[in-house]
Amino acid sequence: MKERFDLIVLGAGSAARDAAGKAKREHDANVAIVERERWGGSCPNVACRPTKAYLTAAELVHDVNTEAANRGIAVSRAEIDLSRLRTWKDSIRRDQASWVEVLGEQYEAVSGEAEFVDRETVRVDGRELSAERILIATGGRTAVPPIPGLADVDWLDHISALELERVPESLLVVGAGPVGLEFAQIFARFGSHVTIVNHGTQIAARADTEAAVELMAALADEGIEVILTSGGIEQFTRNGTLIEAAITGGRVLTVSHVLLAGGRVANIEALGLDAIGVDASTRGIVVDEHQRTNVDGIWAAGDAAVGPLLTPTAQYQARIAVDDMFGNERAADYSILPTAIFTDPELGSVGLTEAEARAGGFDLEVVKHPLAYVTRAQFSTSKRGLYKIVFDRATRKVLGVHVVSRGASDIVGTLALAMRLGLTVDDMAMVHHVYPSYSEGLKAAAEQASAARGQTLRV
Ligand SMILES: Cc1cc2nc3c(=O)[nH]c(=O)nc-3n(C[C@H](O)[C@H](O)[C@H](O)COP(=O)(O)OP(=O)(O)OC[C@H]3O[C@@H](n4cnc5c(N)ncnc54)[C@H](O)[C@@H]3O)c2cc1C
Repeated sequence: MKERFDLIVLGAGSAARDAAGKAKREHDANVAIVERERWGGSCPNVACRPTKAYLTAAELVHDVNTEAANRGIAVSRAEIDLSRLRTWKDSIRRDQASWVEVLGEQYEAVSGEAEFVDRETVRVDGRELSAERILIATGGRTAVPPIPGLADVDWLDHISALELERVPESLLVVGAGPVGLEFAQIFARFGSHVTIVNHGTQIAARADTEAAVELMAALADEGIEVILTSGGIEQFTRNGTLIEAAITGGRVLTVSHVLLAGGRVANIEALGLDAIGVDASTRGIVVDEHQRTNVDGIWAAGDAAVGPLLTPTAQYQARIAVDDMFGNERAADYSILPTAIFTDPELGSVGLTEAEARAGGFDLEVVKHPLAYVTRAQFSTSKRGLYKIVFDRATRKVLGVHVVSRGASDIVGTLALAMRLGLTVDDMAMVHHVYPSYSEGLKAAAEQASAARGQTLRV
């Protein structure tokens, strides 16, 4: 017999939990939440939080080894005990039993893999659940590129890399997006010899090019080599315990470990979408601005849907979908989306890159300020960094801000609101600032725009 609900959410990650919570809170909905593998989903278990936990350890190791002596702190060389770090990482996350208990108190928590029977019904481990509204929030996973020889390599992804007990001697990171860059720095700071191979002309493909170049220089200073290629890795060959990677152009790297971070694919194969006619590709389920799929009564949100692959956007999409389901239509808007890569320095961005603004036809100006001139940065030996503002020449409205510095994620996060309220570059120049802070560099950049008009001079 079918069990009937007001809403079924497939997956128990960030998007699914947000949707279930909102539907219950605001509409007193009777919700079923279905999870096949990892209650809580990726972000708290195997993605955002554990990687940031590792990054804090990497930063500490790095600071002790590069800064302590300058400050008159006598310590021996810091070294990571990966096994103990892993135990700490696991100790600060909610365990699976606790997730099931918390979610089970509010919803019908169903363990198992969901597959559509028809557009209102899913089958999970022999049970049939049905609802007028179904949200697909099944997330994504690491894409495995079709490189010859890869099948013979015990490659790592972000999940298995976080379970390693020993630091790899040498690590080849495939892909220079946020995941690849963060792991490259983590393991380089833990003592691995790290090389990144990236298809394309810059690291962090979505970032402003000058910001990406600055971050790449900071990583190079730490001994991380980045190989940018028009191709990529053409062949993997096992050589005893080592792995050889032949790169377009003729170079061959020999490493002990390979980490795949070249892209993501949506978890949709098991859902049986073809049977109910939901449009999708490996990039995800096709949705409109209300998160509706092409099939009535079925919405998709988070990494399972085409769109940004971030936790806050997964939650945002889930809320838009629930609003839409219950008659409060609103449209997704990503025009002012703050993002960050949590390397050290961080690369934080909000709004348009210079290239995007040019492609969008804006008559724009750009002002920049180097991190090295910011007082706060002078307390650290690393001076690589940049503040860049892209603004409209006529209206002076800020179109995009790109920051490479420690704390960049916080800087761009708070700027998003000001940009939403119509921030101009002159507002940025005139505003009071905290001294000495990393955000000060933005005011210094903005002052150049105002000074060029004879408005403000820096004192
Ligand atoms: C290494 C890494 C670091 C990241 N760091 C950040 C960060 O710092 N900040 C940020 O904003 N974003 C970050 N992200 C992205 C972020 O983790 C994702 O965007 C977010 O977790 C997506 O949430 P979701 O709910 O769409 O999917 P998920 O959290 O992945 O949840 C989907 C769930 O669905 C389940 N599922 C799949 N198929 C089925 C099925 N057929 N039946 C039942 N259940 C199913 C899965 O087991 C999974 O638990 C990071 C990603 C990675 C890989």
